[in-house]
Order: sequence, then structure tokens, then C-alpha cells
Amino acid sequence: MDLTYSAEDEAFRAEIRGWLEENLAGEWAELKGLGGPGKDHEAIDERLAWNRHLAQQGWSGVGWPAEHGGRGLTLWQQVIFHEEYARSNAPARVNHVGEELLAPTLMAFGTAEQQERFLPRILAVEELWAQGYSEPDAGSDLANVKTRATLDGGEWVIDGQKVWTSNAHFSDWLFVIARSEPGSVRHHGLSFLLVPIDQAGVDVRPIEQLTGGSEFNEVFLTGARTAADLVVGEPGQGWGVAMGLLGFERGVSILAQLVDFDRELGDLVDVAKGNGAVDDPILRDRLAGLRAELEVMRFMALRSLSGVKRGEDSSAGGGAASIFKLAWADWHKRLGEVAMDVLGPAGLLAEGAPYDLDEWQRLFLFSRADSIYGGSDEVQRNILAERVLGLPREPKGTS
Ligand SMILES: Cc1cc2nc3c(=O)[nH]c(=O)nc-3n(C[C@H](O)[C@H](O)[C@H](O)COP(=O)(O)OP(=O)(O)OC[C@H]3O[C@@H](n4cnc5c(N)ncnc54)[C@H](O)[C@@H]3O)c2cc1C
Repeated sequence: MDLTYSAEDEAFRAEIRGWLEENLAGEWAELKGLGGPGKDHEAIDERLAWNRHLAQQGWSGVGWPAEHGGRGLTLWQQVIFHEEYARSNAPARVNHVGEELLAPTLMAFGTAEQQERFLPRILAVEELWAQGYSEPDAGSDLANVKTRATLDGGEWVIDGQKVWTSNAHFSDWLFVIARSEPGSVRHHGLSFLLVPIDQAGVDVRPIEQLTGGSEFNEVFLTGARTAADLVVGEPGQGWGVAMGLLGFERGVSILAQLVDFDRELGDLVDVAKGNGAVDDPILRDRLAGLRAELEVMRFMALRSLSGVKRGEDSSAGGGAASIFKLAWADWHKRLGEVAMDVLGPAGLLAEGAPYDLDEWQRLFLFSRADSIYGGSDEVQRNILAERVLGLPREPKGTS
């Protein structure tokens, strides 16, 4: 493991830390802590304005290569950027899906025209994107997608239903996996399409969540249209593109997530000190255990990033990505449970209207989703069983 930061890296850390201190002042300071998992419905317009401010100042696409208008930071500098961003408690950016998922996918699989058309607008935070993968019968088993796409003259016509589509209600575009070859099964015959949301054939219906907010949606596609050339990769070869995109998920931002967890745990310890819960030896022990585990996860993340830096494929070998996902999802759910025990009976009451939850109640409820999205616990265990331990593969239907 290589844990050293060069003098250049440290200078970069000072630069971004200074910039954030200077800029997260005045009105922007009021946005601190807003947005992010479980809170993505908060202050969308204000966070969008902040996101654009970042972009205007060159803090968008920090990991993108310079040829696409990015800052071209090294891997370690990207880690520093995300760590400092999280440490400053800056509001969650609204452009994450476009900037960190779709953009690298377009760079890897898109045509020059698609890159020219979309990348500058993602970089400038002018167009927001949502991910249209999951369907009612295709979540973990994504190859089961039923949404159909047919070429009709110069356009794709798309029919089907997506679900859990985060942030579609304020996005401009949706990338969709659809079956474009009638009669094809599983991962064959799928296409990866870029679909404008603002059209009669796209109906976005927010889903009210356990937390009271609505971050994700059902998206009904009924004769939705998009131009024939807005297919990424070859028609029928969309599975490879879709999987390529998933490879960009998380990446360097995992250390930043741990910074957020660290802040949450620190805040909870303050609550426990304030209400006397910290005097309970069992709660003290659980809080201390969470702290120790967080430190272990930080080293896990650094080890896996060191591997990426050395050019190792993080998806291969020891299954580091799956182990890390299992570890943080379980940790975060337990943080929510400990928070409820720290609050005691007060944790059962909402302060205002029935669903006016405080941050701990919301954390407790939303963290139940941590072991579902980004690959559920069971799916991660299957990956470890099959790819790392070499156990027999589970049957997957016709392929
Ligand atoms: C907060 C949140 C945000 C999301 N955002 C998006 C988004 O923006 N775009 C998008 O496309 N999707 C999104 N999703 C959907 C997410 O990808 C799916 O929820 C996930 O893939 C699981 O699929 P599912 O919900 O259909 O559950 P299912 O796949 O039906 O799974 C149900 C249960 O069965 C288990 N299971 C499934 N298959 C197996 C197996 N082979 N072996 C053992 N157990 C198994 C699962 O672990 C789970 O416990 C989001 C989900 C959440 C919770």
C-alpha cells in the first residue's frame, strides 16, 4: 500500500481547501450539509446554482482528461478533492450521474459527435442526467429488461417502464437500456440509448419514500422518441456499455463517503455526550466499535485505491469492491441503529408534522437502502462466491 502524498499533492490539498473555505461563505454557507443519499430532494435549485458555480471556477469534471475540458487530476488528487469537499460539508452536487457515470462512458464508448454534443453541457452543469436501468422485474437481474426500442425512420421509439430512477424529476436526460432486437434474451440484443425527458412519451412519477421525501421515480416510456444516432456503442451491444458505466460507480469518491460517515459518527457522539447516553457502557462500546471499524474501512479503501494506482483491475482478484460495499452498507445501517438507541424514546417521535423527521431518524430509515442500491448484499456475496472463491455459478436462465 502506498500511503504517501507528494509535496505537489499536499499543495493541491491546500488549494482546494482554501478555495472551499473562501467560497462556502455568505449565502453558500447556508447550503452546507444539504443533499446526498436520503436528502437529495433538499434545496435542489440552490445546489444546482452552487454546482454551476463550481463548474465556472473549474471544479467540475476534475478527473476528466484535459482534451474533454476536464482538470485532468491524478487519481490521488481526485481522492484529495473528494475528501476535502466532504470535509468542508459542502452541499451534495446534483450533477453526479452525468459527471461521474455518463461522461466517462461517453468518453469510452461514445462517438465524437456524442462527446461534442453532451460533454460540454455536463461539464457546465447545463444538462442533468438520470439512470434508467432498473425495471419492476429487472433490478439485481438487470439482463431481464423488458423495455423495447424500435427504429422508426430517423428515430428510436421506446416503450416500457423504469423504476427507482433517482432524480429523474429534475433531470433533462435519461440513459436507458432497452431491448432493440425482438426475441433476444438476457444480455443480448440490448441498446444503450440517450433519451430526452421533456417529451410527451416520458411520464416521470415521483415515489414517496419511507423517509417522507421523493428522490426516485417511476418512469413510464410510451412511444418515447430519441434520434437514431443517440445510441451509445453499436445497437444490440448495449450490455457492454451498461456494464462499463457501472465500473465507473463509486471509484475515488469512496474515501469521501468515509469522511461523511466520520462526521455523522462524530455528531452522534456529541448527541450521546449531550443527552447522557454516552454513560451507558454498552452504547459507549458500540460507538467505539463503529469508530474502529471506520478506521479499518479507510485502510481498505486506501488499499484498493493503491491497487488502482498501480494499474490493478479493482474488479478482479480479491473482490475488494464487493467486500468494501458489504462493509460500508452494514456499518452505515448499524450507525442508524445505534443513533436510535442513543436518542432513546425521543427517536420514536417526529418533531413536527407526521413526516418531519430529524437527521437521525432519516439516517436510520434511509440507510436500510444501503444494502440494496449499487448491488445488494446478496448480489455482492454471489460475486465473491463465484469470482473470488470459485464456487459453482448460480443458474441464470437462457443465455
Ligand atoms: C436509493 C436507491 C436509488 C436507486 N437509484 C437507481 C437509479 O437511479 N437508477 C436505476 O436504474 N436503479 C436505481 N435503483 C435500483 C437498484 O439498482 C435496485 O434496487 C437494485 O438493483 C435491486 O433490485 P430490485 O430492487 O429490483 O430488487 P431485486 O433484484 O428484486 O431483489 C430483491 C431481493 O432479492 C435478492 N436477490 C436478488 N437476486 C438474487 C440472487 N441472484 N441471489 C440471492 N439473492 C438475490 C436481493 O438481494 C434483494 O434482497 C436505486 C435503488 C435504491 C434503493
